[in-house]
Amino acid sequence: MPDKLTNSEPVAATTETVAPAVAPGPPRKIYSIVKYGDPILEKPTAAITEFGPELEELTEDMFASMYAAQGVGLAAPQIGKNLRLTVVDVTAGKNPEGKIVLINPEIIHAEGEKREEEGCLSIPGFRGYVVRPQFVTVKAQNAKGEFFEIRGEDLLARAFCHEIDHLNGILFIQHLSMLKRDLIRRKIKKLRKQGEW
Ligand SMILES: [Zn+2]
Repeated sequence: MPDKLTNSEPVAATTETVAPAVAPGPPRKIYSIVKYGDPILEKPTAAITEFGPELEELTEDMFASMYAAQGVGLAAPQIGKNLRLTVVDVTAGKNPEGKIVLINPEIIHAEGEKREEEGCLSIPGFRGYVVRPQFVTVKAQNAKGEFFEIRGEDLLARAFCHEIDHLNGILFIQHLSMLKRDLIRRKIKKLRKQGEW
C-alpha cells in the first residue's frame, strides 16, 4: 500500500530527503514491484514453514524495497514471491518500532467500519475508496516463528487488511464498484498497449 501522501505524480525532493529515513545498516536488495496483470498477484500464497536468518534477511530487504517505493505495506507476491509474508510500517521508516513483520497472518477480530481512499504499489496511479474495519486484531508469526497478536486502528488496520488481502490473491480494486474497477482495468490496458505499464 503506498504512502497516503504519495500519488502517481512524482513528488519534488524536499529537505526531508537529506536525513536518511532508516538507520544505516548492511546494503539491502531493492526488489522491483510487480505490477497488476502479473498472475502472481491474484494467487493465494503458500504458508511459510521455515524460519530463521534467511527469512529475516528477506523481511529487511522487503522493508528497504517498500521504503524505496514510498509504501506503508508490501506483500511477498508484490516482489514475485509466493509466500505468506508481508511487511507494514505506517510511520514510513520514521520510527523503528513501526516496523511490523507478519508471517502467516490471519485476522482474528475486526470491528467498526471506515471508508477511506486507498492505493497499491502494484497499481500505481490509481486510487479508490474502500470500506475496511476500523480496528483489526491479527495473529501472525515473526521471522523466528514465534506467534504474536497485534491490534491496528485506522490506517494500520487498513494496511493489515490490504496486505493480508494480497496474501489471499485479492487486490483493492476488487473492493470497488464494478464500474470503477472496469474503468481502472481499461485505463491499465491502454497504458500497457502504449508500453507504459
Ligand atoms: Zn497493495
